Amino acid sequence: MNTTMIVDSLVAVQRAILANEASIESLDRAIGDGDHFINVRRGCEVLVGMRDDFPGLTPSQAFQKIGMKLLGTIGGASGPLISSCFIAMGKALEGHAEPDRRSFAAAFHAGVGAIKARGKADLGEKTMLDVLIPASRLLTRLAEEGASLPDICAQMKDEATRNMLATRDMVATKGRAYFLGERALGHIDPGSKTCEVAIAAVCDRVLQ
Ligand code: ADP
Ligand code: MG
Repeated sequence: MNTTMIVDSLVAVQRAILANEASIESLDRAIGDGDHFINVRRGCEVLVGMRDDFPGLTPSQAFQKIGMKLLGTIGGASGPLISSCFIAMGKALEGHAEPDRRSFAAAFHAGVGAIKARGKADLGEKTMLDVLIPASRLLTRLAEEGASLPDICAQMKDEATRNMLATRDMVATKGRAYFLGERALGHIDPGSKTCEVAIAAVCDRVLQ
């Protein structure tokens, strides 16, 4: 993992988010307030727009820059949560000029931990964490086992899709969908969909 790969991944995520506009948009209209896609699109636009500022930065600095920028760019509940993830990843990577898979997995774990702490949420609450927590656990295990990159990417994509779909059958105990009670049943959580799309885009990019 290096800074070029991070920038390439940002571009890939932006493209994938735009390609999934219809589904992300309709999910937050169904069980949120309809702004989630706009929030995420704006974040992607701003990050891709500053791609020339990244060369020369370490991955740690790049992630911290991404997090700080998103803090002032994405609104809603998801803005501060996603920002805190990148900032924590950046902090975890301090001193790693070119992080290997294990250090990247540890940084991702720290990032997901920051979202849990800030959002005071955990598994099973119908939020983005239902995709991110299992993704982080899987990545940690596969990195420790020394799995190949194609294997890691294939498993990460499958796991993200499975867990995103599973939010359909959950009642929310956090976020706006909480106020809908059982009416949120049958709808996928928009933040989970965004995270699934982003994970798949990064995996596909890494394999190119
Ligand atoms: P808002 O709900 O303020 O309009 P967004 O629409 O941008 O914010 O984001 C909504 C998404 O944020 C939800 O789909 C959910 O995945 C995620 N989310 C909401 N609250 C929390 C929380 N406390 N912890 C983790 N994720 C959360
Ligand atoms: Mg919303």
